[in-house]
Amino acid sequence: MAAQASAPSTSATSAVKVISKTWARDSHDLFDFEAHQLHTQTFSVPKSTVCMRNGTEVQMVGERDAPPAGGDPLLRLVQRDGTFWVDKVQPSSNSKKLWLVVRDLVSSSHRLQEGDVIKLGRFKFRVRQLVASTYGGMQPELRLDDSGVICCAVEPTPGGEGPQVDKLLCRICLLEGPGEDDPLIAPCQCKGSIEYVHLGCLRHWIRGRLNLSDRPLGSYFYRPLTCELCKSVYPTYIHTNSGQERSPLVEVPFTQPPFIVLENMVRDSQQHTSRGLHVISLAEKELKLGRGHESDVRIADVSISRTHATIRFSKGHFLLQDSSSKFGTLVAMKKPRVLEPGVNISIQMGRTVLTLCAQHDPNQSNSASSLNQLPVGGSAQDERALRLSLLTRGQSEGGQSGGQTAQSEELPEE
Ligand SMILES: [Zn+2]
Ligand SMILES: [Zn+2]
Repeated sequence: MAAQASAPSTSATSAVKVISKTWARDSHDLFDFEAHQLHTQTFSVPKSTVCMRNGTEVQMVGERDAPPAGGDPLLRLVQRDGTFWVDKVQPSSNSKKLWLVVRDLVSSSHRLQEGDVIKLGRFKFRVRQLVASTYGGMQPELRLDDSGVICCAVEPTPGGEGPQVDKLLCRICLLEGPGEDDPLIAPCQCKGSIEYVHLGCLRHWIRGRLNLSDRPLGSYFYRPLTCELCKSVYPTYIHTNSGQERSPLVEVPFTQPPFIVLENMVRDSQQHTSRGLHVISLAEKELKLGRGHESDVRIADVSISRTHATIRFSKGHFLLQDSSSKFGTLVAMKKPRVLEPGVNISIQMGRTVLTLCAQHDPNQSNSASSLNQLPVGGSAQDERALRLSLLTRGQSEGGQSGGQTAQSEELPEE
């Protein structure tokens, strides 16, 4: 952490204002951004501190104090050289994952990078690839398995050893030997008379199962296919011409850049959701993620809003935005983050959201309070200021609002 500890040029901070909001329900580590009944607390944190949660009660514990029994560590605020950092609680094994709340970020959007993990409701995606430019002819990298197994076309060996290629039988068309530009391959664990198949014959079979051609701008969902007999996963790429060329086993259309490749991160309890890659072109429109039929990435789950989030391409960047979703759009926080004075960030850990704002040190600066320093102008900023005022108002109401309205759709218990 020290290596990147270049403090922001702004003045030193004396304390961090923390507003914690905890959802009464404990369900799938979700936080309901539309809930009326949230347990809200406000803190002013002047020194390095660990935030803990016990039930719905958030507590601030000094770094050297003994943590209260039964509490869950949420995050750590570290003060160093007049600057505050947010970090996860060490050891990280039993601490909650820290998720940045996208709607509360500056300009209400997050600039995506390859490797980012995003979370919508209960669903996680990994950003596998971002291709902005039409130059270079970049196409989606479809690899999902990291087995490293390379499937090569069967070719006659120079010494004459190995299988007699012309006598090998294709298990689909039952013809002997490779066809013209149609090599025989051994794509799975099957052995004996069903070991080999023509690449063309296998592609014809795949085409019948998942037809990816003719999709607008070359957007599609790719999932790995398995052999129906031995159940092993077919390779993604086939190497031909003595390994000189490589082509995807599944015939995929040309994807128009700019495009994004998102991987479905499927947990064991989500077997109904197939593991795979969403390849989406942003050449002519933004990408919509949600439960509605018009979504480009459609997730039929009650934790997903009809229109949940969007990704658009603007000035060379892929921007993720939340569409006022019920359970929020989040980005995994990968490393410790500096709190810049006057800039709020919100971090979700399970059913708690902490909004953090570093306060200017009154001894070093006579500037106005951080809330008044919010840049006002763009509509995004207006919305942010409005949300902040709502946050402060919710605080004074302190959970006075009536009972939570009945949920028409209950989240299934795991
Ligand atoms: Zn064949
Ligand atoms: Zn097989």
